Amino acid sequence: MAEEKRQFQAEVGKLLDIVVHSLYSNKEIFLRELISNASDSCDRLRYAALTRPELLADDGTGFRIRLIPDAEAGTLTIADNGLGMDHDELVANLGTIAKSGTSEFLSRLTGDSRNDVSLIGQFGVGFYSAFMVADRVTVASRKAGEDAGWCWSSDGKGEFTVAPAPDAERGAAITLHLREDSREFLEAFRLKTVVKRYSDHIAIPVLLKDGDKDEEAINSASALWTRPKSEITPEQYKEFYHHVAHAFDEPWATLHYKAEGAIEYTGLLFLPSTKPFDIFNPDRKQHVKLYVRRVFITDDCEELLPPYLRFVRGIVDSQDLPLNVSREMLQHNPILAKIRTGLVKRILGELKRKAEAEDGDYLTFWDTFGAVLKEGLYEDFERREDILDLCRFRTTASDGWVSLAEYLGRMKEGQEAIYTIAGDDLAALKKSPQLEGFAAKGVEVLLLTDPIDEFWVSSVGDYKDKQFRSVAAAGGDLSKVKTDENSDEPKADEAPTDEIATLIEAVKLALGDKVKDVRASERLTESAVCLVAAEGEMSMHLEKLLRAHRQ
Ligand code: ADP
Ligand code: MG
Repeated sequence: MAEEKRQFQAEVGKLLDIVVHSLYSNKEIFLRELISNASDSCDRLRYAALTRPELLADDGTGFRIRLIPDAEAGTLTIADNGLGMDHDELVANLGTIAKSGTSEFLSRLTGDSRNDVSLIGQFGVGFYSAFMVADRVTVASRKAGEDAGWCWSSDGKGEFTVAPAPDAERGAAITLHLREDSREFLEAFRLKTVVKRYSDHIAIPVLLKDGDKDEEAINSASALWTRPKSEITPEQYKEFYHHVAHAFDEPWATLHYKAEGAIEYTGLLFLPSTKPFDIFNPDRKQHVKLYVRRVFITDDCEELLPPYLRFVRGIVDSQDLPLNVSREMLQHNPILAKIRTGLVKRILGELKRKAEAEDGDYLTFWDTFGAVLKEGLYEDFERREDILDLCRFRTTASDGWVSLAEYLGRMKEGQEAIYTIAGDDLAALKKSPQLEGFAAKGVEVLLLTDPIDEFWVSSVGDYKDKQFRSVAAAGGDLSKVKTDENSDEPKADEAPTDEIATLIEAVKLALGDKVKDVRASERLTESAVCLVAAEGEMSMHLEKLLRAHRQ
């Protein structure tokens, strides 16, 4: 079969352009990306071979990633003996971007390199980073279990070719034709330094032949989470986080622990410091990878963590699950359910510890992921109290974040409930006429602006025996709140009740069926009137949200 020529998907072309131009100052990361892919591929083959051992027949289980510099040809080859790619996978994986949200992501790129670098950091550039150092990249690959290999080749300028490669070995060999200014990556010393820096934690040996010496592993080649905590540096944790999460930011928190007892597993979990661009995707997928006794099983195990903790990254390595665990077995699996309970407890416990430290660090987390965590308020009944403890709010009494404990501590004598008001915009909410009566009595109100707030407020009920109550439904409550001695609450001009009744009738007549009811209220002190949602009816805000969720 002859060589076949194809176009990159438009998005790839655009991404390639940005990668090559804006990440250039940090070009050594190409090696991390290619080694990371090679390692993923070996992991996948190891797992596939648990049920299909014949896949390993031709090249055994000695997984390795080989770095082959060729000074004469000016090329560096990164060769793995993992799962490899067949013809269609080469075309799809290296010619298109399947990630959801890609178009939206690309539309946010501005051409300003500082902004773009941080965005790309969150998105991950992967394979295409090869073009930072190479003006031509070829990928020779043979998929495990197949006879025929293929060679993909491109100069990264809009087109690629695919041709048969009868001699390709199992796995993938990525050959980089290094640009003039990137020849440093032919030097063993340079390669060793970069591998140590970014890929030391890779569990598969990265081999390099340095001159006349024998080929040797230049990384530690043991799974990071199996090493004692005391022997792991913060740098190494960070690099592992980057690898496992496809992220580029600093981890905000790192949890590394071994659970022992009825269920044994190791968890190495990270909380990111920046919001992943797809955190509000409708799939709400969790992102912790499952291993069984160091063998990668899946990165798509919904049972491992609830959706409201989907910002967590990392791995869980179980001692108890069988190695040949299948997707079906993972559903309703009692061992997995126990691991999940343990993980949730650990993560919420760590958040609690951080929240209690009161050094302000917790608030950066809350700012980033609070809206996600709050989904747990109505999805995880058992943990509701714990999650409420972790919640922070904007309120009428403070410019900072307020915990419910602080709120309770400031409640007025006679105040029965925790008052809330919900809307899209903090500044607009603060000006709401509905708050006037509360302000006059010095009663603090939670200002809820996250879409999710409407859901939990209506279902959570109470916190430490105090009901959550919308100010719209709480007009009558205020009369029970004792007025402060020094309050500047204006004395209400007592209007005769029959005059109010006449006024109300007149207003009703004028507005007709544009409103459901017209009532006197004591929640206003400055404004003459305000609009409120009828009690027991969905607010407009909630209606909008439900519609968004159903799409
Ligand atoms: P990501 O690793 O985030 O999926 P990449 O751009 O790094 O994105 O790689 C794109 C895809 O190409 C991978 O998901 C994988 O399917 C495929 N791929 C890349 N390198 C290899 C490799 N060495 N062996 C097998 N498949 C690979
Ligand atoms: Mg990758």
